[in-house]
Amino acid sequence: MTRPTFKRILLKLSGEVLMGQGQFGIDPETVDRVAGEIAAAKDAGFELCVVVGGGNIFRGLAGAAKGFDRTSADYMGMLATVMNALAVQNALERIGCDTRVQSAIPMASVCEPYIRRRAMRHMEKGRIVIFAAGTGNPFFTTDTTAALRAAEMNCDALFKGTSVDGVYDADPKKVATATRYETVSFDKVLNDNLKVMDASAIALCRENHIPIVVFNIRETNNLAKVLAGDGVATVVQN
Ligand code: UDP
Repeated sequence: MTRPTFKRILLKLSGEVLMGQGQFGIDPETVDRVAGEIAAAKDAGFELCVVVGGGNIFRGLAGAAKGFDRTSADYMGMLATVMNALAVQNALERIGCDTRVQSAIPMASVCEPYIRRRAMRHMEKGRIVIFAAGTGNPFFTTDTTAALRAAEMNCDALFKGTSVDGVYDADPKKVATATRYETVSFDKVLNDNLKVMDASAIALCRENHIPIVVFNIRETNNLAKVLAGDGVATVVQN
């Protein structure tokens, strides 16, 4: 069965994806592959913007557990997302894709500050906008950032590229009979506490009627398949 397709997409890349087979940091080969797939999606006519995570480098919660002040640790996490954003930008520009990085924490000599109207204009001109530094606020995640930016940029859908191929009714690593949902409602995700994105991200997408397509971006060319409405994925919707 082919799923509906969408034109303007926000792609959420978790930091974990960018470390490839490694345990930490940025794997250039993986970044190049993902960038190639983003460029191909753009060539296929999709309008794309990207939110990158930072978990491959630093997570605020993990830092706080080791004794860092939570807000400082979250700022460190947000700075980690800027590194990832620059890596993705660099890989995209090397293959001829016009991009802009916009950071929610202004850092004028590194990238543009986040300005919604300017980001919109970039997208209209066919540029891929990469949103860095999360929401700019501690105590949030880049999943919530993705939901927020998807709403602000009038995206038709949020594509969450992760290491799993969708949303399951139980943890597939622990429960052999766990089954993947083809579609699942926002309410069910929240009520059953299904592991998709944090609750604030889900609630934002629900309020703004933005479907979330959860898919495995570690699998080569899977982005093209799910964008075309095929491929293995779960769609979370109203
Ligand atoms: N972060 C934050 N505010 C935001 C977004 C992110 O404080 O609006 C921090 C938070 O510490 C988080 C880290 O940045 O742990 C990296 O983001 P995230 O964990 O969402 O990355 P991912 O899991 O997608 O790699």
